[in-house]
Amino acid sequence: MRKLTDEEIEQTWRLIQEYYERYLSEQGVKRISLRKGSQYTKDALVLVYLAQGYPNTRWVSKEELTSFIRLYYPQTPDVQQARHLGPQKGYYVLSTRRGNHVGEFSEELRGESAYKLETLERSHPNYHPERRSVSGGDEFDFIKERYGRRCATCGSLEGERNFRYPNSITQLQKGHRNPRKPLQGDNIIPQCQFCNRADRNYWVYDERGRVVGVASAKVVIRSIEKGYINDEEAVRILEYLDRRLRRRQI
Ligand SMILES: [Zn+2]
Repeated sequence: MRKLTDEEIEQTWRLIQEYYERYLSEQGVKRISLRKGSQYTKDALVLVYLAQGYPNTRWVSKEELTSFIRLYYPQTPDVQQARHLGPQKGYYVLSTRRGNHVGEFSEELRGESAYKLETLERSHPNYHPERRSVSGGDEFDFIKERYGRRCATCGSLEGERNFRYPNSITQLQKGHRNPRKPLQGDNIIPQCQFCNRADRNYWVYDERGRVVGVASAKVVIRSIEKGYINDEEAVRILEYLDRRLRRRQI
């Protein structure tokens, strides 16, 4: 038993992602992250291990899978991920412990816990994605799911290399749609650590993460200074503010 090289992991992961985007995403299968911080997630490692040689996958015993995961997480007592990838997250991972699949595996595996990735084109037959939205996770997790776990502004995928800072792994944070309103409910969009930091409460976004307004005089002033807003436009702003002042609206 050896660790897989980063290249081996990434190669298999890319294949999984291609199938995910083509088939599994629209079936509501939960997206999992390759990394959390600098480490591979257990879910991703299990899926990569089971997907090796896809579509010619094989039965892998729980013992073997646990040995593999312990190469990365030495403290792991017992790998539960393979079981959770199925009915809970939607991946079509067969298990010897699930009665309806008895008969498809060899005699040696009888009585043993083992798993096999059946296909990346269909979700697990016992998976019901709508159940997840009722019981599943916290509010932000639900919001991130709606955005396909991507930064609403730059599209970087959570747990993957950031589009604009490829040496960094994308972390999603709660960003304001409107910085003048509280950070809750519909006012939250997921943003990567870079887009969120660069935001500085300057911008207002629509629900698709597009900028629809500015929330800071600083931006307007700087835009006039830089000529982004030309003199003609600046005069329009002045006249508009002047009218509002006269009507005592400000
Ligand atoms: Zn971003």
